[in-house]
Formats: sequence, structure tokens, C-alpha cells
Amino acid sequence: DISRVVEADRAHIWHHLSQHKQYMNDDASKQVDPRIIVEGKGMRVWDQKGKEHLDGVSGGVWTVNVGYGRERIANAVRDQLIKLNYFAGSAGSIPGSNFAEKLIEKMPGMSRVYYANSGSEANEKGFKMVRQIAHKKYGGKKHKVLYRDRDYHGTTISALSAGGQDERGAQYGPFTPGFVRVPHCMEYRAFEQEGAPQENYGVWAADQIEKVILAEGPDTVGGLCLEPVTAGGGVITPPDGYWERVQEICKKYDILLHIDEVVCGVGRTGTWFGYQNYGIKPDMVTMAKGVASGYAAISCLVTTEAVFDMFKEDASDHMGYFRDISTFGGCTAGPTAGLENLKIIEEENLLDNTLQMGDYMLDQLHALSEKHAVIGDVRGKGLFLGAELVADRNTREAAKESLVSAVVGDCMQQGVIIGMTNRSVPGKNNTLCFSPALIATKDDIDQIINAVDGALGRVF
Ligand code: PLP
Repeated sequence: DISRVVEADRAHIWHHLSQHKQYMNDDASKQVDPRIIVEGKGMRVWDQKGKEHLDGVSGGVWTVNVGYGRERIANAVRDQLIKLNYFAGSAGSIPGSNFAEKLIEKMPGMSRVYYANSGSEANEKGFKMVRQIAHKKYGGKKHKVLYRDRDYHGTTISALSAGGQDERGAQYGPFTPGFVRVPHCMEYRAFEQEGAPQENYGVWAADQIEKVILAEGPDTVGGLCLEPVTAGGGVITPPDGYWERVQEICKKYDILLHIDEVVCGVGRTGTWFGYQNYGIKPDMVTMAKGVASGYAAISCLVTTEAVFDMFKEDASDHMGYFRDISTFGGCTAGPTAGLENLKIIEEENLLDNTLQMGDYMLDQLHALSEKHAVIGDVRGKGLFLGAELVADRNTREAAKESLVSAVVGDCMQQGVIIGMTNRSVPGKNNTLCFSPALIATKDDIDQIINAVDGALGRVF
């Protein structure tokens, strides 16, 4: 009985990212029902009222890359769970090996896969590795991790300490020491950064990282953690010249480059990994959301053999190996689902589709921006796109958050789910976000664009 489910939800569920008063207001006219998603197939989901929605955000947070209802993944997981659901500690598993082998095939230069459960957890493990290397090689000194304004690396206290979105973290201090912020590289808002040039902005933005390293002392900085394309911070694509310079800086100061692919990873930008668009050679890569498209909980920290080598100790050394575990890193469902997910992307040529449909959608968003002055900027890569809304195109003053929410709400009424990312302007949520599954067709994209077109017309 679905009404019972709704009441149990209202009574007992503490929803993620939710202001709950809307579900339990004393004034019944102000109360709404929590939304419960009941079923999904392909690009679409159905809610508790039976209403169909086209999912323009892959499960809300860039996750269901191969779409809903993949029996092939469900069957593989089912068979594996009956054979062996779990074993952890220092033991391996057949799906763990098979998935790692296939994953590494997609990541030339990378070598070792460490399993965990969430993006935050994988990132924490990367931070731990930097610290342990500092202890092993540099007397503990080279332990600091740099992170960038607007990037997000997770919800745990240390991941928030490396978080560049203050609106998600400020309430949860005090923070873990050893994390140092570097400036963002968002060309559209470069004018807000003191000294930012009109030409060669990308190189300038990367040089700001070097300035921070020099101010902190290069002998104290061990890691640099960056998103290849910033996700929740406003879908920020890197400016030309940025990554080449970042790579040089890391090399010059012997800093490990940790790329957070939790959103971009596994096809989202039309390459297997976002960093592969920019010729980056990472030391560590973390991934989560699209790894198994949400069919099982899995995240991975992938390193080069050189990083791994620094931890290769024999049994007499009780401190030198990576003394870390993840209980549910021993679940076999994750790598089993992950392997099928990779095979689906390969066999259905979903990277090509992502590139083609991403270009098409980007064109459509540009066309919308000709029509609606409220769209200040359109950006993204593959099927990972954003449209920043502004109150004034000249000053680039952010559009009111309530109006941006109204656009998302209007689309929802029309049966199309889109997202809005956290601000690219402090305190504002003003970038509409689109990340349909990699199976999206032109018709799906047209439906999303038409919904946004109608919503912008009504709201602004
Ligand atoms: N890194 C990035 C770039 C993310 O967007 C997120 C989540 O949105 C995370 C890390 C944290 O992942 P999780 O929520 O699985 O801990």
C-alpha cells in the first residue's frame, strides 16, 4: 500500500539534502508529500503516484550511467551473491580481480585498484596515502593536500576539510588540519579574481596553485586533489592551458596528483575518465558514482605502480604497508556490477553516444541561451552540462536561487528531472545541471531542452 509507504517515510526517513519542514508542516496547505521513486526503466523513472519522469540527472547525482532496469547487471550480481556474497580483510575475490583487470585496461599508466564504498571514502584513502608517504619518505613533513575552491570531495570531516564549497561545510567545523585551498579556474567568473588576465587565463589559474605551494613551503605539500571537470561546484570545465601547467607544477615540486573522478569517471564526459580529455597523468584516481551505475555500492582508489611500490613492505614491517580497510570493500556485488557496467558501455558504444549526444545537447543549450537572456554561460563536457543563470548578463550577478529552483520545479511538473548545482557565486545555487544517462537519444534531449525552454519562459 503506497500511502503507507509515504506515511512511513514522513514518520521515519531523514532524507539526504532535505529541509524537512515541507513534509511535516502544521499548516496542511503548506505540506507536500516526500517524493518516492518506485521504478525505473532506461532513461525514465516512475514515482509513487505513477507519474513518469525523464531522468535528466542519472539518479539525482550523476550515477546511473547505463540507465535503469539492466537485467544483465542484476543477473550477474544475483549469481555472484549466491556463489559468494562477501569476504573481506586481506583476501581477494574472483569479481574483484576480473573487474580490476578490465578497469586498468581503460586507464593506461595506472595499475592498482583499492576497493571501498563511497567517493568520500576513496578520497580519504588517497589523503591517507599522501600522509603515510610523508611519514615514510619525508619525516612527516610533506603531508599537506591542496584542494581547489569550488571542488567537492565528499561528506566526511576530512573530505569536507578538502572541500571548496563552503556552503556545504561551514556548519561542520572545526576541520582537519593539513588541507590548503587553491583558487578556482572558472573562466566565466575570472573577473572576480584579483589579477586574472584576459589572455592565457588557464595558465594564470594554474600558476595560482604554484603560489600557494611556495607560500606553504614545497617541502610541506604532498598532494593536489582536483576534479577534472568540477561537478557540484557549477559544472566548471577547465580553461585552455590549465592542466598542462598543473601537471608541470606537480612534477616540479614532487606532488602527487590525485584526480577525483567520482562524477566524471566511467564515461560521463565521453572518455572513460575525465582526466583523459586533458592528457593528465595522475598518480591516484578516485571513482564511485558511475562505476557500477548505482546497481551496487562500490568506489575505487586506483594508483600507479610507483605509488603502490612505496607501500610494498614485508611482514616484519607493522607500520609501512597501507594499514587500511573498508568492511564493505569485501562485497562482491560491486565489482560484479562494475564489470557488467564496463562491458555494456563498451558493447553499446556508449562513449561515442555520449560525445554525440553531448555535442547535440550543448548546441541546444547554446540555442536556448540566444532566446533566454537569463542564461549567462553554458559549459560542460560529454553528457555533463550546465547552464549558469544570471540576473544580469553584463554584471554576471547571480540569478535568485528561488527562481532557479522554480525552473527545476517547473521541469519536474512537466515530467523532466533536471538538477541545480551549488553556487558558482557564494551562497547561490544558480547553475542548472544536466547529466542524462549515457544511453540518451536525441528525442530524450529534445524533451529536456523543451522542458527547460518552457520553464525559463514561465519563471523569468
Ligand atoms: N567527489 C565528487 C566530485 C563528488 O561529486 C562526490 C559526491 O557528490 C564525492 C566525491 C563524494 O562521493 P560520495 O557521496 O559517494 O561519498
